Amino acid sequence: MPLIFAFPNEYSVGITSLGYQVVWAMLAQRPDIAVSRLFTDVREPLPLAAELLGFSLSWELDYVNVLNMLEQQQVPLRSRDRSSSHPLVFGGGPVLTANPEPFAVFFDIILLGEGETLLDDFLDAYQQIRGDDRATQLKALAQIPGVYVPSLYAVTYIANDGPIASILPTAADVPATVTKQTYRGNVLSASTVVTPKAAWENIFMVEVVRSCPEMCRFCLASYLTLPFRTASVEASLIPAIERGLQATQRLGLLGASITQHPEFETLLDYINRPQYDNVRLSMSSVRTNTVNQKLAETLVKHDARSITIAIESGSQRLRNIVNKKLETDEIVMAAQQAKAGGLQALKLYGMAGVPGETDADLAATAALMIQLKKQVPGLRLTLGCSTFVPKGHTPFQWYGVNRQAEKRLQFLQKKLRPYGIDFRPESYRWSVIQALISRGDRRLADVLELTRGYGDTLGSYRRAFKALKGKLPPLEFYVHQEWPKMQVLPWEHLAGPLPKATLLKHLADAQQAM
Ligand code: SF4
Repeated sequence: MPLIFAFPNEYSVGITSLGYQVVWAMLAQRPDIAVSRLFTDVREPLPLAAELLGFSLSWELDYVNVLNMLEQQQVPLRSRDRSSSHPLVFGGGPVLTANPEPFAVFFDIILLGEGETLLDDFLDAYQQIRGDDRATQLKALAQIPGVYVPSLYAVTYIANDGPIASILPTAADVPATVTKQTYRGNVLSASTVVTPKAAWENIFMVEVVRSCPEMCRFCLASYLTLPFRTASVEASLIPAIERGLQATQRLGLLGASITQHPEFETLLDYINRPQYDNVRLSMSSVRTNTVNQKLAETLVKHDARSITIAIESGSQRLRNIVNKKLETDEIVMAAQQAKAGGLQALKLYGMAGVPGETDADLAATAALMIQLKKQVPGLRLTLGCSTFVPKGHTPFQWYGVNRQAEKRLQFLQKKLRPYGIDFRPESYRWSVIQALISRGDRRLADVLELTRGYGDTLGSYRRAFKALKGKLPPLEFYVHQEWPKMQVLPWEHLAGPLPKATLLKHLADAQQAM
């Protein structure tokens, strides 16, 4: 069965995605699939008549390349314009799992959830109905948990430019709610490709944990992928690392909260063995109160100079609002431990525009950074700061982006510069585009198609909204407005790990802390 598996960006970006690597390896291992990889710059020889065309979407704005690649393959952009003579277009990956709706009309199938079992379930089912017409195929595939067929759900609106009125299956035998697939095993992902052409050259990546038990109320990486799972050290991590380090000297430990692995110390001891002395180690950001001297020394021994912690805010009040279980003393301690272990730099991540935030909270963040600078001299400090962006399936999904956030980022910049603290704000405009996509519904497809021609600036999105005025709500509705709790959400028919009632309870807890 000929299948094209595309990554809508360059090879160096695609091959650095652990998700893309793992899915490609699963496809390549199936005897019934002949898979060809397609990137925007390179491709393997493609079949003349692919039956399946899959995309892994890791970055929102890569949708432009999805549309370009469909055109190059002479496949109509919208699912409704395709027939059995075209490949079945499927997609997966973090962007589509977070909120597939803005892209829904471009895909015949969207795979929601974790690939480990979902991909095989999808392909096995497809084998059974290969010869059927497209409508029969889609209905049959829609029965599989995690397989979402957007065209089988009709969305109605209160008004053309108003909120959604309903999202209903188009037939009685289509499930009313699509459930995601959750993998329950203790063997997590590891690289299947090591290449100098990757964005992180020659890195071998190992997934240490999946999801995060902390449940900060804005956090998609936690809420959307619950429950928290850990890779078995014996069955998953050590065999993978042994395999990988035969091919390279660069190891990346991945996961939203790796130091919360119950056997993280054992893993560090293993990496600290003399035969791995030359291994260069990198890790994603770690929980602040798990930074200790041993962790810092391990990093230093393996060629790292800095460690990253996410504090969200210097204000205890704000950390309570977002459910960040972290005391100011613990932040100071983490900086001291990092320095004692020999690290030269500490990177902290914060956020501006969080629901309930006041100017005093921003001042507290600036004050904390200045306190750290004084209390832990010699440690280079960087504060990366993003703007709060609402994400579906989190308790903060109803809030909009705070229009004050841009000013607040500038405030931090002004406060921190005189102290030699490196401040790196994420672009506010980019946060607005992210929010648009994260709370978008199907009507956004028209905007995306228009913007493709205009260029990927916020001005282009504004221009597209102007051109489509009256046909969908204004940009402000998606990005800035606080949505009523009763309003039908664009992802109302897609079940997340937690029921809406639980999210509302977590939201009420946050509001109490405000
Ligand atoms: S600790 Fe980090 S990864 Fe975990 S829930 Fe909070 S923000 Fe998300």
